[in-house]
Amino acid sequence: MLQGLTQLLELQRVDDELVALQTDYDGLPGHRERIEAERIACDEQLAAAKQALQAAEGGMRQAEGALQDREALLQKLESQQFQVKSNDAYTALLREMDQAREAISEHETKILEHMDAIEQARGQLAEIEKHVAETRSRLEAERRAIDARDEECTREIARLQALRTEVSPGVERELLARYERVAKRRRPSVILVKEERCGGCRVGIPPQSFIEILRAESIVTCGNCSRILIHADKLEPPAGS
Ligand SMILES: [Zn+2]
Repeated sequence: MLQGLTQLLELQRVDDELVALQTDYDGLPGHRERIEAERIACDEQLAAAKQALQAAEGGMRQAEGALQDREALLQKLESQQFQVKSNDAYTALLREMDQAREAISEHETKILEHMDAIEQARGQLAEIEKHVAETRSRLEAERRAIDARDEECTREIARLQALRTEVSPGVERELLARYERVAKRRRPSVILVKEERCGGCRVGIPPQSFIEILRAESIVTCGNCSRILIHADKLEPPAGS
């Protein structure tokens, strides 16, 4: 009679859990990278919105400066009106004054445009600040969840590996070796047979093999998928029953 069939199934259960945990654990760095990328994108969005507002405010200051210059020029030209001696000089002065008024009007229009741009930039910045605050708190929660999962996986993997070390010696050497080989390619690698059919690949078990499974004196594997076949009746009843 093969030794350790029950332990073999227990080992398989432990290994299934280990595979799932390890897959989860291996996915954590990728998750952390996605969080970091999102955090950087948030910072960039915020910086761009602040820069847009600064640019709009800078444009405003420039337009105001230009307006003041033209207003000062117009004032100066106006004060010269009564000092000109010739008609030509007067005509030239009037033309200069007209040009200054035109420039003033243009700058005033620009200032209005800049005011609109500033208002829009402030609105956008407020929206982005809100979005960034929400995203940052979500990312922080995700980061904490990953840290917790990391710890949990590490702890569980260690516990299961210890359990594995405990269970493995109960399985006879050849059976264990066969299991390890099959498990590398196929999971589950041990099939609890209930009918004359492999539960892994659904292919029928030849009568002679089925008899051997019932005897459980040698390792029987599926001719199609190589999984180890065990009959449910050959398992030891759970301890205490
Ligand atoms: Zn099979």
